[in-house]
Amino acid sequence: MADKLVAGNWKMHGSLAANAALLGGLASAGELGVSCAVCVPYPYLAQARQCLEAASIVLGAQDVSEFAAGAYTGEVSGAMLAEFGCRYAIVGHSERRALFGEDDATVGRKAAAALAAELVPIVCVGETLAERDAGATLAVIRRQLDAVAAVLGGAALARVVLAYEPVWAIGTGRSATPVQVGEVHGAIRAWLGERCAQAAAVPILYGGSVKPDNAAELFAVKDVDGGLVGGASLVAEDFLAICRAA
Ligand code: 13P
Repeated sequence: MADKLVAGNWKMHGSLAANAALLGGLASAGELGVSCAVCVPYPYLAQARQCLEAASIVLGAQDVSEFAAGAYTGEVSGAMLAEFGCRYAIVGHSERRALFGEDDATVGRKAAAALAAELVPIVCVGETLAERDAGATLAVIRRQLDAVAAVLGGAALARVVLAYEPVWAIGTGRSATPVQVGEVHGAIRAWLGERCAQAAAVPILYGGSVKPDNAAELFAVKDVDGGLVGGASLVAEDFLAICRAA
């Protein structure tokens, strides 16, 4: 079984002052009994690293360049993130796919770039509401995953974290139901099993309106190995409650 992991995705939120309060709350929590990470905006990595120095919560980024170095204005490489203490980099978040034009192949290359820098990519997949209504959920997720496997190859899948984030559940307050989550996570585990000897050990996170009051129920679903948490990760007590539910 994969170890449980709860990762917070702050998205484009924060300020030095607000972060200090949030990180201070997280740092004072003590042992959480689960792996925890916060994926903060790039400029705040150093602050987060310092505030979480003595805590068991590790750092992640929300994206990574597909390129290692060079004339790529505005990009941030995996090596830079590793140098700032990141363990994880989210790739293929639906907001990057929808708002910044990232296609499946780009997501695959970003996952490879993260691995090359010895970061763990948290590869996000998920369907829109229109795709779910059309009965295309599993086909969409398979297409997104196949593009990543095409770049990484099967063996390297053992070094990634996958996150199922239905687009319609993100920031809406409407999480997927345990039955919906179980169906997709089971399909992802089966997909992994066809490609990777360590399929059972690859964490598959659920993301989309995870809150303190639904976390335990979602995390109890078979093949759910933790969560990727947006809004609730901005409130220390909510994020800690979700971590403790894992
Ligand atoms: P919410 O938890 O705010 O729905 O966001 C989920 C998400 O996008 C995490 O990456």
